[in-house]
Amino acid sequence: MIVCWFSCGAASACATKLTIEKYGRENIRVVNNPVINEHEDNKRFLEDCEKWLGIKIESATNPCFKHCDITKVFDEYGVMSTPHFAPCTLELKQNARSQWENDNGFNKDTDAIVMGYTVEEKQRQDRFNSAPKNKGYKLICPLIDAGWDKHRCFNELEMAGIKLPEIYTKFEFPNANCIGCVKSGSVWYWQMVRKHFPEIFKQRAEQSRRLGCRLVDLGAGNEPRHIFLDELPENAVGRKPKSCYVECGIFCTLGQQ
Ligand code: SF4
Repeated sequence: MIVCWFSCGAASACATKLTIEKYGRENIRVVNNPVINEHEDNKRFLEDCEKWLGIKIESATNPCFKHCDITKVFDEYGVMSTPHFAPCTLELKQNARSQWENDNGFNKDTDAIVMGYTVEEKQRQDRFNSAPKNKGYKLICPLIDAGWDKHRCFNELEMAGIKLPEIYTKFEFPNANCIGCVKSGSVWYWQMVRKHFPEIFKQRAEQSRRLGCRLVDLGAGNEPRHIFLDELPENAVGRKPKSCYVECGIFCTLGQQ
């Protein structure tokens, strides 16, 4: 069995396509972790990709968090994120993945997983392979093998007539993660959330103040200065950080960015 983890991002869609082209459909499973806090158009993208790939995309959820709602996970944990931990990734992605693997007889000795790391993310492949918790996993990275970067993935999808998720095209976000992803401390990112999704910004601001999580880093250079979202000045301008391009993974990448 080869399991392609599909994130509703352009890269994982193309990684799945290349895998099917190389290995055929017979032993391939394509699996997504649904999270209700992603943009609604992600669902449309997933369905378009099912037709393009010619394969049904399965859902992997954590039975303890069937609501798939990050805000409920935060309340249950009493925390939104720390520099090395985000409970949403743990419960809705990693533990959901483990559950799926148990339920479907995934065997590390004989089976493999596919991740949509792009060629500019080679270091993520290396980190994955050297992380003790990933010991035994056989990782296939078709985009790195083919030399595809993120822009190549966008182009391939466009050429195939697949409309990219609106979160990229209409709102110009750099990934298809949850809107108001708590992994990002970027001023630029949070100003984008405030501008395009003011209700979500308000909701994260209220919850982060209540739970005592300072989500934004207003610091300069190597001097971090974390503040609450409701303290972020309306006129603060941040630079678009490279790490914003990283998609939320089913294998935790916190602390790797
Ligand atoms: S995208 Fe961000 S907010 Fe959503 S589950 Fe991943 S880390 Fe959490």
